[in-house]
Amino acid sequence: MTDASIIDGKAFAARLRERVGQEVARLKDDAGLTPGLAVVLVGEDPASQVYVRNKGKQTLEAGMQSFEHRLSESTTQEELLDLVETLNADPEVHGILVQLPLPEQIDSAAVLDTIDPTKDVDGFHVINAGRLATGQDALVPCTPLGCLMLLRHHLGDLSGQRAVVVGRSNIVGKPLAQLLLGESCTVTIAHSRTRDLPAECRNADILVAAVGRPKMVKGDWIKPGATVIDVGINRVEGEEGKTRLVGDVDFDEAVKVAGAITPVPGGIGPMTIACLLANTLTAACRARGLPAPD
Ligand code: NDP
Repeated sequence: MTDASIIDGKAFAARLRERVGQEVARLKDDAGLTPGLAVVLVGEDPASQVYVRNKGKQTLEAGMQSFEHRLSESTTQEELLDLVETLNADPEVHGILVQLPLPEQIDSAAVLDTIDPTKDVDGFHVINAGRLATGQDALVPCTPLGCLMLLRHHLGDLSGQRAVVVGRSNIVGKPLAQLLLGESCTVTIAHSRTRDLPAECRNADILVAAVGRPKMVKGDWIKPGATVIDVGINRVEGEEGKTRLVGDVDFDEAVKVAGAITPVPGGIGPMTIACLLANTLTAACRARGLPAPD
C-alpha cells in the first residue's frame, strides 16, 4: 500500500489569507469599510504571546485594522468586562478575540458571553454555539472551521461518510461534530470514557483527533484509506534537549495506513488564524448588511 497523501494546511491557509486580503481590498474600495480585529491578552503566558503576535501580524497583512490590548496578570474580571463592553461599542472593531486561557480570578465563560455575538469571531458565545447546533448562520470556531475546509477541499461531498471525532471540548470537538453533522456525515464523538476507542476509530472514514495526548492514535486504529485530521499540538522533548511539536496521531504509523493525513506542524495549526481572518471579514460584512464572501 502506498503512503497517505499529505493534506497541506499551510499552503491552503496561505491561499485563504490571500483571498481574504483581496476581499478586504474590495470592501475598502467599494464600501469604504476596513474590517478591524481586536485581540485581548491578559497576563504573560508565553504560548499566548506568540499566538497574539502572529494574529496581529497576519491581520495587518490581510489589510485589516489590528487592535491589541495587553492587560496585566492581575487584571480583575470587572476591568476585563469593561474593556469588552468598550470594544462591543466601537464601530471600528468588527471582531473581538479574548485569548484563552485567562488567569484564575477571571470567569472565562462570563467574559466570552459578554462579547457581542455579532463580533464573536472565535465563535465561543453560547448564541453562536446554539446557532451552529440548530443549523443557523453562525460565527463558527476557527479550528473546526479550518478542519472542515480541508476536508471539503480534499474529499468534496462529505455526506454519508462515517466521522469519528475524538475529543468533546467546546472549542474543537463539539463544534466540529456539529459541522460534520451539518455535512450529513454519520458522526460519533469519542472522549476519555469511550469504551474500546481503537475499535471506534477503526469505523471512521474521517478520523479527527483533538485530544492533547502526543501520538495517542496508532496506525492500527485507522481504517485503511481513511482521512485523518490531527488537531493536536503537543510540545515534546526532541533531540539534544530541544522541544518539538507532535500531534495526537502517531504520524509515522498512520501515514502507512491512511488515505490522507494532516501533518503537525503544517496541517490544522495554520488554518486557525486564516479562519479567524475569514470570520472577521464575515462579521464586518454582516455589520454593514453586505453579503459575506463564501
Ligand atoms: P481539551 O483538553 O479541552 O479536550 C480534550 C478532549 O480529549 C476531552 O474531550 C477529553 O475527554 C478527550 N480525551 C483526553 N484524554 C483522552 C483519552 N485518553 N482518550 C480519549 N479521549 C481523551 O482540549 P482541546 O479540545 O482544547 O484541544 C485538543 C488538542 O488540540 C490539544 O492538543 C490542543 O493543543 C489542540 N488545539 C489545536 C488548535 C490548532 O490551532 N491546531 C486549536 C485548539 C486546540 P473528556 O471530555 O472525557 O475529558
